[in-house]
Amino acid sequence: MTYRCWFQCIDPACGEKYDIFEVIYRCRRCNELLEVVHDEEQLAKTSPETWKGLFDERLGSTHWPYGSGVWCRKEMVLPLLSDENVVSMYEGGSNLLWAERFGREIGVEDLWVKQCGNSHTGSFKDLGMTVLVSVVKQMRSQGQDIPAVACASTGDTSAALAAYCAAAAIPAVVLLPRNKVSLAQLVQPISNGAIVLSLDTDFDGCMATVQDLTQRENIYLANSMNSLRIEGQKTVAMEIVQQFDWKVPDTVIIPGGNLGNVSALGKGFLLLENLGMIDRRPRIVVAQAEHANPLYRAYKNGFREFTPVAAQPTLASAIQIGNPVSYKKAVRTLQEFNGVVEQATEEELADASAKADLTGMFNCPHTGVALAVLLKLLSRGEIRRDERVVVISTAHGLKFADQKALYHQKKLPGIRGSYANAPIELPNDPRQVRETLRRIIGNKKDAAPVAAENR
Ligand SMILES: *Cc1c(COP(=O)(O)O)cnc(C)c1O
Ligand SMILES: [Zn+2]
Repeated sequence: MTYRCWFQCIDPACGEKYDIFEVIYRCRRCNELLEVVHDEEQLAKTSPETWKGLFDERLGSTHWPYGSGVWCRKEMVLPLLSDENVVSMYEGGSNLLWAERFGREIGVEDLWVKQCGNSHTGSFKDLGMTVLVSVVKQMRSQGQDIPAVACASTGDTSAALAAYCAAAAIPAVVLLPRNKVSLAQLVQPISNGAIVLSLDTDFDGCMATVQDLTQRENIYLANSMNSLRIEGQKTVAMEIVQQFDWKVPDTVIIPGGNLGNVSALGKGFLLLENLGMIDRRPRIVVAQAEHANPLYRAYKNGFREFTPVAAQPTLASAIQIGNPVSYKKAVRTLQEFNGVVEQATEEELADASAKADLTGMFNCPHTGVALAVLLKLLSRGEIRRDERVVVISTAHGLKFADQKALYHQKKLPGIRGSYANAPIELPNDPRQVRETLRRIIGNKKDAAPVAAENR
């Protein structure tokens, strides 16, 4: 069977279509965002049970490239790509963690964390970048003149772009806001041989420059305005449902910055629904940092108007975005999924992350934003305690080791560090070590890890 997909303008009044292997990011007729649309009639000729069986058989297998969490669904992601042009690092297939102890502590027992940071470059950005770089490889192999691929980044996009381009021997250019990404994020594209431009601006400034660059030169744009990435990222919804034996959770909480990922999440669920593979939708909650909350503000006024904000510095640096490219797509998703938007302060996100870490996780600050929002919605009764809730963890905590260490030293400005657990400095004296431990542990038999403050 031949499955097809194409780019289509998201404005229903326009609906212009473009070839998937054309270099295009916005509608030429009306300048609106594009999305990839699939021939769902053709996909629906295969039964839901057959699709489920096929995905179950492929996911995690070594049958290249079908073991990947993205490419096991190739027919629904990018059917027109030939296998030899797939640039995959076995992205996806990340663990869906039952947060048993944390869930019990906060009173929601069916709590799960989708660990998208357990991936090749440590964030969910791999899911989209494998698709985008594969398409570039195919276009180059067909003789299109694309000398390089470029992105503006708050850190994780550039790490993913650099790795996938390096694997495919395609030059990558990354534009980073100087001193606004972590050392771990900076060193990834450097190690993978990307051309790293460190610009004296913030993310929104880098975004404007990369758009100028990719409009004037034939360098290809890898930001999420490019809807190829959304096609890869939508597989997170499909994978979550697959991991629950094709059952749909009640609520999914996702941190949002440029808002590509929330629209991808919705797109994945909708495709499954259209193909009869699921029979209901979850509610989607977008979690924003109060320091970069344009979507939250728009939500509060019923989406009547949208005003970009100047994003203030936030520990959740990957979502420090004041003028999100995918705003319209996100609003559409929220309207389709009974959506909620909530925000978290710096202290709330840092505390939520640290509190959950004490139960064995190791959260990035964006996951902290989502966890803080979970706590708020629970306390207001907007999430019921018997719901099945999934928190999307977007990156690995190790990318943010420096700020996490500062939290535990209580050295983050304006943050008390209520769950700080700093090392205890002692001389190497066995008696003092014994006495110190006796004081802390006492005779408690079930001594579980607790923050220093509570000892
Ligand atoms: C990119 C990113 C986000 C935000 O995703 P958007 O699609 O921009 O909303 C959140 N967390 C992490 C770790 C990211 O890298
Ligand atoms: Zn259009």
